[in-house]
This record gives sequence, C-alpha cells and structure tokens, in this order.
Amino acid sequence: MPDVSAEAPTTGEPTSPRSLAAYTTLRLGGPSRRFLTVGDAAETVQSIREAAFDDQPVLILAGGSNVVVADAGFPGLVVLVRSRGVRVVAEDAETVTVRVAAGEPWDDFVAYTIDAGLSGVECLSGIPGSSGATPIQNVGAYGQEVAETISAVEAYDRVTDEVVRLAPAGCGFAYRGSVFKHSDRRVVLSVDFRLARSPLSAPVRYAELARALGVATGDRVPLAQARTAVLALRAGKGMVLDPDDPDTRSVGSFFTNPVLDAAAYEALLGRAGAAGEPPSWPDPSGVVKVSAAWLIDRAGFTKGYGDPGTVAISSKHTLALTHRGGGTTADLLALAREIRDGVHARFGVTLHPEPVLVNCEL
Ligand SMILES: Cc1cc2nc3c(=O)[nH]c(=O)nc-3n(C[C@H](O)[C@H](O)[C@H](O)COP(=O)(O)OP(=O)(O)OC[C@H]3O[C@@H](n4cnc5c(N)ncnc54)[C@H](O)[C@@H]3O)c2cc1C
Repeated sequence: MPDVSAEAPTTGEPTSPRSLAAYTTLRLGGPSRRFLTVGDAAETVQSIREAAFDDQPVLILAGGSNVVVADAGFPGLVVLVRSRGVRVVAEDAETVTVRVAAGEPWDDFVAYTIDAGLSGVECLSGIPGSSGATPIQNVGAYGQEVAETISAVEAYDRVTDEVVRLAPAGCGFAYRGSVFKHSDRRVVLSVDFRLARSPLSAPVRYAELARALGVATGDRVPLAQARTAVLALRAGKGMVLDPDDPDTRSVGSFFTNPVLDAAAYEALLGRAGAAGEPPSWPDPSGVVKVSAAWLIDRAGFTKGYGDPGTVAISSKHTLALTHRGGGTTADLLALAREIRDGVHARFGVTLHPEPVLVNCEL
C-alpha cells in the first residue's frame, strides 16, 4: 500500500507516464501524462509555476487515500508531495504551535504529539495520508477534527502566484470540507497546529470511544490510551491501512453523512417507517446529520455487497467501498452509483461522495 513515509523524495525533471494506481490506497487509476516528486515547498511551488507556464493541468497527490482516479488517468502533471519537517514555531505556558510540512505522514505526526505530551489530535490516530491534506476536507474522526487545532495554513495561491498564510477563518472549515476542497487554487505547503501541553486527551466526545475506554463522555484519559483505543476501534472497521487486508483498500468512507434540514429530516422519518429511526446528530442550527452507513444498510446494501472479484462494500464497514483486486475505477463508480440511487429510491436522500474524483464523476 502506498505509505507516504515509505519513499525517499526524488526530485528533478518530470518523468514520463506512470500508473497512478500504485499511488492510491484504492490501487486504482490510470497513467498521468507527466509525474514529478517534490521534496520541499520551494520545489512544489516551482513545479506548479512551470506547469502553468506550459498550460498543463496539475494534480497534487500526497498519500492518495482520498482520491478516485479515472481509469484513463490524469491528462497533465501529477506532483507527488513528499516534503518533510516538524518544528515548534511558538510556545507559551499552556500551548505549543508545531509547523508540519505538507508531505509529513499524518499518523507519524500524531504519534509525535503523543510522545511530546501535546493534546488535541490524539483521536485522529490511524488516519492515512499526509498532514498537508488534512485541512482539505477538515479531517475528522471520533469526535475531533483538525479545524479545532489548526492555527494557520501556508499555501501557494496559483491565482495570485504568491505564498500566503491563512488564518482558520480564511480556511472555510466545514464538515468534511474547506475552501481547499474541490478547488485547485491553493496548494498547502505547511500546516500549523496549536496543541495543549497536557498528558491527557481532550475531553472524549464520541460515545463509542468513551465506551471502549471505560469512561464517561467528557472525561479525559492519558494520550497514549486514547491513541491505542482509537487505533483498535479503527482496525476493527478496516480503517487502518493493512496491505494484507483488502477491506482497507478504500478511501475510508465513500459517502459523507447527509445533512438535512428539519423538513427533509421529517420526510426521511416518514419514509423510514418500519426500518426505524436512523442514528443522527442534530445541530443547534436546526439541521440534522444522518448516518449514511445506516441508510445504505437499510436500503439493502449490507457489508460485503458487490463482487468479491472486483469491488464490494467492505466486510467490516458499510461506508467503505473496497477494491478486492481485478477491478477498475469504472467498476467502483458503478457500485457507488447503484448505492446512491438505491438509497435515494428508498429514503429520498441523496448521498454525496467524500473523496475527490479525478477526471471522473459519479
Ligand atoms: C482506510 C482509510 C481511512 C480513512 N479515515 C478517515 C477518517 O477517519 N477521517 C477523514 O477525514 N478521512 C479519512 N480518510 C480519508 C483520507 O485519509 C484523508 O482525507 C487524508 O487527509 C487524505 O490525505 P492524502 O495525503 O492521502 O490526500 P490525497 O488522497 O493524496 O489527496 C486528497 C485531495 O487533497 C488534495 N491535496 C493533497 N495534498 C494537498 C496539498 N498539499 N495541497 C493542496 N491539495 C492537496 C489532492 O489534490 C486531492 O484533491 C481515510 C482513508 C482511508 C483509505
């Protein structure tokens, strides 16, 4: 499986076409026209400037754990981000601000924070991919999301041709979204995280995690204990990359949890009828987030659904669409369409994909 820590950076001239399947956790995707590995921020900026000069489309790729790349591949330059570096840039009695290079493997950074006694990202243990990609969809899990600890994002703005430093307010963080997602305007070069000096986790918000830890929600536990519990919960759902486990050959959750207004939620309850009430998370603003996994399962797409020889729902997690080997991106998208349309027919709710679809659509 692609592991962002596994490769030494090799930089220089772009090379000829290369299959992108080797660089995605789905192990799917056709060739790029040109391919370049960059080892630091300056090389990242330079490669994008040169591509703009040649009028070439650019795809920024890091861990490849949140992309679905077309079988036809990408008709331009793929820039593979492999920059490294973690350093403290500010501290006071209570907090430490750490600047992390975009290509730094996310889970290595989480492990570092735990060793350093810094609290705030421990529940995001085990998420694959790079640190620079975490602001893109405001990565979140088990009651935490990076928007809570990011204090700045340094990015190259392709429109103004400048390196800018964005405060959180300028990042437009939302549920699995930000100004960076579905826009190639800004390329993240580094991210600053402001973390609390504490041997204890942030208060545990997620009920399933609290149960696993044997504490009440709102309690705090030693950082390492939180990490161990999260990793165990994730592994049980195939949500930690494991080259020997085809259930992890995915992009994690394929669909986001739909967010419904009050009328749409009432309509859903009416249509659910005997299927019962879906797990949901009401927001003070009046909207309700509903479990996509529940909708998919109750629409008849249960764990393992699909073709075990090509693509299928994970046997461990209803939200993960997995490549079992021998499949194509077209197969995966066909399965995703079948699920989306089946859920809509049963419940009247439209599911939206969480990963970025490259040169293809649902
Ligand atoms: C098993 C598994 C479990 C997962 N669990 C979770 C989870 O719990 N929570 C969660 O939120 N996500 C989860 N994900 C999704 C994924 O790991 C995250 O979204 C991760 O942050 C993607 O990082 P990446 O480096 O792999 O990005 P890539 O897949 O390489 O890229 C994703 C998108 O970000 C863009 N991008 C990447 N780097 C940059 C950059 N430096 N500047 C600008 N754009 C950039 C790419 O162009 C692309 O559009 C999971 C995925 C898998 C496979």
